[in-house]
Amino acid sequence: MSGTPEIVSGSGPVPRFALDDGPVSEVHAFWLAGMSCDGCSISILGAQQPTVEQLLTGSIPGLPKVVLHHPVLSVEVGREFMKAHHLAKAGKLGAPYVVIYEGSIADEAIAEEFGGYWSGMGKGDDDQPIPTAHWLRDLAPGAAAVIAVGTCATWGGIPAAAGNVTGSMSVMDLLGKDYLSTLGLPPINIPGCAPVGDNMTEVIAAVLMFLAGVGPLPKFDELGRPAWQFTETVHRLCPRGGSYEEGRFEQDHGGEGCLVELGCWGPVVQCNIVSRGAQGHAGGCMNTGGICIGCTMPGFPDAFAPFFKKPPGSLLSATASRTTGTFITYLRKFTQDSHNRTNRWHKTEKVPSGWANVEGSPTLAARAVDFFYKRLQQLGTEFKPGSARQKALQAPSHRYIRTRPTQEGSEPQPGEAYHTEAAE
Ligand code: SF4
Repeated sequence: MSGTPEIVSGSGPVPRFALDDGPVSEVHAFWLAGMSCDGCSISILGAQQPTVEQLLTGSIPGLPKVVLHHPVLSVEVGREFMKAHHLAKAGKLGAPYVVIYEGSIADEAIAEEFGGYWSGMGKGDDDQPIPTAHWLRDLAPGAAAVIAVGTCATWGGIPAAAGNVTGSMSVMDLLGKDYLSTLGLPPINIPGCAPVGDNMTEVIAAVLMFLAGVGPLPKFDELGRPAWQFTETVHRLCPRGGSYEEGRFEQDHGGEGCLVELGCWGPVVQCNIVSRGAQGHAGGCMNTGGICIGCTMPGFPDAFAPFFKKPPGSLLSATASRTTGTFITYLRKFTQDSHNRTNRWHKTEKVPSGWANVEGSPTLAARAVDFFYKRLQQLGTEFKPGSARQKALQAPSHRYIRTRPTQEGSEPQPGEAYHTEAAE
């Protein structure tokens, strides 16, 4: 069995749960693992918005409770654990379910030729392990949604890289273009190696809300990725994006500048890890000094290899940024220095900082740049600090403050007027 296999439904009747069956209070989730390192399972356990515990306890208002069947996390073992899988396959579960697949799907036909299997769970009538690929094939037709988590399940990932001897493929590849769940959804893809935990629980919660009839169908892109999570590139959300624009590029690890010349592919990779964080809204590749190697993209890993060599496209864009950025950064320094002074310090030309010596009187060049910058800043507006019009408008207030009596009937005392000419 090579190439794109045809989907063959399971032997039992296919249950059809849809919105017109009314609100649901409980949804089963069958977590299947193929050629996987279990990183997706580890990652989802760190999710916070929502947490796995919130999904399992049904503590989110309006959301059905999730009954999770996970080969590592479930309390049941052996036959007891597999019972719900067999019931669902036979169409006798009596509740809607989703299938979540982690890991890529090796071609079981290759393993069969050698009398073995690649990834299995439970035993069949012949007392042989049932490949998880077969569980996916048999459970998918009756599922409210099939959710592929991690780059192996979404696109094939590392097991499907060049030299792929197992015929590894993605969930999409196995189920084919025509597959639709009972809710009418093609496979949902949440890529990443490992995916951000919150990306997974958030999508599961959104699908459950839709299933329960309390939320809209979330927006997915043309490859089934949650659009709100994977439309933007890493680069647009990266905390080092300003360094790229100003042409500050690191040549070694450990610095705070842009990492493109160390091999970062962020400008073309769709991923939200730097804005969302890896776990608990902390960490995430570029936040912690790592380059983006494109692990959320269908072409990963081959399209981004060799890692740690700068992408050819950066030659043009980084050179352009370096050229304009260096000049612009120089000019920005003038404006930054000027805006780091209060009005009083500008007038007195002294900065009374006890932390360090801060030059109070700007250079002639800085004054000139500041003068023209301010003119441009105010151009076309009525805002002109210190203008004759502003002085005229403020004159009554100033007059009152300078002459106000401290007590009824008494004259102001020396030093009582807090707004003096010198401070203006
Ligand atoms: Fe863009 Fe990567 Fe540089 Fe961040 S480190 S600004 S993602 S190129």
